Amino acid sequence: MEAADILLDVHGVRRSFPKAGGGELLVLDDVELKLVDGEIVGLLGRSGSGKSTLLRIISGLSKPTAGSVTYLGRGVDGPAPGIAMVFQSFALFPWLTVLENVQLGLEALALPPKEIRSRALAAIDLIGLDGYESAYPRELSGGMRQRVGFARALVVHPNILLMDEPFSALDVLTAENLRTDFLDLWQEGQLPIKGVILVTHNIEEAVLMCDRVLLFASNPGHIATEIKIDLPQPRYRQDPAFLAIVDRIYIEMMAHRAERAQRHERFAGTGIGTVLPRVSANLLSGLVETVAAAPYLGKADLPDVASKNQLEIDELFPAAETLQMLRLAELEGGDIKLTATGKRYAEADMNTRKEIFARALMSFVPLAARIRRVLDERANHHAPKSRFLDELEDHMAPEAAEETLRTIVSWGRFGELFAYDDEHGLFSLENPA
Ligand code: ADP
Ligand code: MG
Repeated sequence: MEAADILLDVHGVRRSFPKAGGGELLVLDDVELKLVDGEIVGLLGRSGSGKSTLLRIISGLSKPTAGSVTYLGRGVDGPAPGIAMVFQSFALFPWLTVLENVQLGLEALALPPKEIRSRALAAIDLIGLDGYESAYPRELSGGMRQRVGFARALVVHPNILLMDEPFSALDVLTAENLRTDFLDLWQEGQLPIKGVILVTHNIEEAVLMCDRVLLFASNPGHIATEIKIDLPQPRYRQDPAFLAIVDRIYIEMMAHRAERAQRHERFAGTGIGTVLPRVSANLLSGLVETVAAAPYLGKADLPDVASKNQLEIDELFPAAETLQMLRLAELEGGDIKLTATGKRYAEADMNTRKEIFARALMSFVPLAARIRRVLDERANHHAPKSRFLDELEDHMAPEAAEETLRTIVSWGRFGELFAYDDEHGLFSLENPA
């Protein structure tokens, strides 16, 4: 890598936010990233891992708490001309036409009106929006709206294009259509850009589009591993070499998470402090059933389960990990394997499933056991939610505590361990009438 080719150098970046109840929430820690002329780099990580925060820092919209961002050899301090962003939410102005929305990208450059117009028309043409110049965003499909988002970013002829999950709000076919069009333009050298950072939580998208993928791990967000993708373009999802890379990324992500989980268990103290993911009992049952059934018969490759069921890692990983926590399955590398209990669960009727689930909660989820014990010990068998929320907030951020409590309510209901009255914020042993 020649120093002259380095477009962007992110060094030792750290970012924290003040927490509502005092203290700091560390979101990014020691992030290192270089972007070189001619490459698309992917940042792959779960939601909440700090990817958008990092992009905002790179673009100059937000400042790091520590560390530096260097763009073409100069420190970034405020919005950098030459770095443009495409957002998941399109972020168009509803009262402006397509042409006006695209021209807005040029406002800061103070160009003559004629030039603004001709550059906007050229960007619109390039991105396949010809004929839509006078349309308003509400008249456009999601795919066309995101094309406007791309045109508005490209019209400034940026050196670097930052894309924050640009395809994830689109349906499957539209997203693929936009990816392919973008890659074609990139390959043909038609885009007025030198390098791209693509944030995504979709593994296949990363493998399809990127020259390198940086695996982004959470709490705090940092880059765990880099994976080079040497396949020539165009790439095909069914190509064995493509599938092998997808598999490898799954395994890396799993391995990293397993390692972290172990570290956390050692320090978690009571175990009450474990953050529980938002995973429904239905999704857990569905995953057990899928793995139990043909062709898997108890052992499955997670990437395969994900792609056949159109699940994102954001959904699949927490579900697989929950099954592991409940000892219904074991995870190893990219595989999930049902335990003997997991197999019984798959074959059981609804009532037996609830019994197995309740027993697993009592044995392996300390928070469930605690709530149940408090209710058993109290004469009226009632306890306010706030009692447990306070306890959780000693261990985790307030939103995580709320989320954890919501999850335990839903699991507790499914296992019929306790009831919960949301109106009064009250746990009890009664079934609500
Ligand atoms: P991702 O894009 O990977 O989903 P984000 O960068 O949006 O993640 O958020 C990472 C974490 O930082 C989240 O826990 C979020 O709540 C927190 N966060 C982001 N922006 C702010 C902010 N302005 N104030 C407080 N917390 C924030
Ligand atoms: Mg984000």
